[in-house]
Amino acid sequence: MINLLILPGDGIGPEIIKQVIKIVKSCIYTGYKINIIYNYIGGISIDKFNTPITNNLISIIKYIDTIFLGCVGGYKWNHSIFKPEYGLLKLRKKFNFFTNIRPIKCPFKNIDIIIVRELNGGIYYGKPKGFSKQIINQIPTWYAYNTKIYNEQEIIRLARISFNLALNRKKKLCSIDKSNVLETFKLWKKTINYVHKFYNKVKLSHIYIDYATIDLIKNFNKFDVIITSNLFGDIISDLCSLLTGSLGMLPSISINNKSLSLFEPCHGSAPDIANKNIANPVGALLSLVMMFEYVLNDFKLSNNLYYSIYKVLSYGFCTIDMKKYIRNFKIVSTEEFGDLVNHFFIINV
Ligand code: NAD
Repeated sequence: MINLLILPGDGIGPEIIKQVIKIVKSCIYTGYKINIIYNYIGGISIDKFNTPITNNLISIIKYIDTIFLGCVGGYKWNHSIFKPEYGLLKLRKKFNFFTNIRPIKCPFKNIDIIIVRELNGGIYYGKPKGFSKQIINQIPTWYAYNTKIYNEQEIIRLARISFNLALNRKKKLCSIDKSNVLETFKLWKKTINYVHKFYNKVKLSHIYIDYATIDLIKNFNKFDVIITSNLFGDIISDLCSLLTGSLGMLPSISINNKSLSLFEPCHGSAPDIANKNIANPVGALLSLVMMFEYVLNDFKLSNNLYYSIYKVLSYGFCTIDMKKYIRNFKIVSTEEFGDLVNHFFIINV
């Protein structure tokens, strides 16, 4: 029995997660032993419990095999004392999800890149951080500060996962940094070069973040596995969504040093389109493909879901964000897209 914790979150989260649940329920219906547990994170948790992540949620995770999350955040909480995003950051930190793997793949284009993003450190978590006031030019002035910090152990564990991924692919690893300016990245680069000594079958390259933003779009075919920091990983995966057509297309898995895993699409809560039944559920559904593979070890099931999504898109059915990228497109709602995928999925499950 797999205990699956579902955290729909905010904005379009509940809409896209509903499509994921349709598929999971089809699996349960045909005999798969999956126990679904629902809970709250982010803005909805603030509304209900005055905190973006409750101790109750943290305490039940010890009984959980895997977590599936929608997304958090939204305009509603812009001025709240607690931020929805803090719930997600705490979840990642508390359960040591230090590696986030983001495949950039598109069924219609010859594109296949994996971004390995550091998820537990860097500027998102570094201390000291905060706001303060000081007299500048005789004027009391607010200032704000964050700390970008990485230690060798954090870089080594991420590098080993990245080199191992590259070994099973085209054997190319590219590290994206800013080591020409920042000390943290000088250590980053030196440490990755050190780990490379144990993986000499992999061709390692380094590229600065500024040029990476151009190279990733112009020459995406030269990339295989990319390793980068928390902040740069966050930014370049949004950039790479341009290659697939929409931010709604990208899945991800986060792993820790135990066997717990966290699946979520790469996008945010898209408050501009929430509750309109137009959000693209493909990133969430592809995250489920990864869950079938990595948690259930069921490649038949993951292939079935992958090809069901592919089939729906290749018939031209898509949500509105994908219309520019699909020939003879027929726009469908989030619900309809999920139903179509489930229709093909059920036939082979
Ligand atoms: P976003 O990813 O929510 O949206 C950016 C743009 O992409 C929007 O125009 C949106 O409509 C579109 N988009 C995103 N996902 C889509 C989908 N599945 N289908 C169709 N279109 C989609 O980023 P944002 O607007 O910068 O942030 C909104 C909120 O989400 C903020 O509160 C932010 O902090 C939060 N956020 C959360 C996560 C997460 O939960 N992992 C990640 C990023 C941002």
